[in-house]
Amino acid sequence: MAQKYPSILLIGPPGVGKGTQGKMLGSIPGFFHLATGDMFRSLDKESEIGLEFTRYSSQGLLVPDFLTVRLWRQHVEQLIEHKLYTPNRDILLLDGIPRSEPQAETMQEYINPFMIIHLVCEDIDEMVRRMQKRATEQGRPDDTDELIIRKRFEVYAEQTAPVLACYNKDIIADIDALGTQAEVLLRILSKIMPAISAVKK
Ligand code: ADP
Repeated sequence: MAQKYPSILLIGPPGVGKGTQGKMLGSIPGFFHLATGDMFRSLDKESEIGLEFTRYSSQGLLVPDFLTVRLWRQHVEQLIEHKLYTPNRDILLLDGIPRSEPQAETMQEYINPFMIIHLVCEDIDEMVRRMQKRATEQGRPDDTDELIIRKRFEVYAEQTAPVLACYNKDIIADIDALGTQAEVLLRILSKIMPAISAVKK
């Protein structure tokens, strides 16, 4: 592979606002937001891989690493082919991947993460509230059942939080995820703009 995609990773527990912030940032020219949750949800539900996704996500579990990274790679290649994402022009905002240590390791070959936005919220009840609101708005089955939501927090603590240790501490920015969407966006932008200037030099 010729070039590793310059990337910013959005990491944080379910409901913390990765998708909300990722979408806003992705609407700014020069950024491309790629959320693996959206990627999985856009699959044909009756296809083999669509059924596999539902099997895992409905239990609050991660889709197996191999399948996830393979699908992610195919998805990125299609985005490039359709000129929706241009690696030389856009910074990839990765939301929901890597979500485990093996994914972080495999993806080293494809991405160059120069900044990690770690969204932090200690108030689990607030996150559960956000997710239940989202369940009503978007009809997400993995967000309706409180037991499944709790399972996803466990999976985050066990499998995703350790991903942070795979990267140099200097590129990790802890961002307080409580506040209005604009406040959180401002906090993120104030961290990523200097990092982008440094990368573009
Ligand atoms: P949230 O925004 O609440 O964290 P997502 O929409 O990102 O949730 O993901 C929904 C579900 O999709 C996850 O619970 C998981 O089953 C699956 N999924 C998303 N990204 C990955 C990944 N990188 N590896 C494995 N499974 C994933």
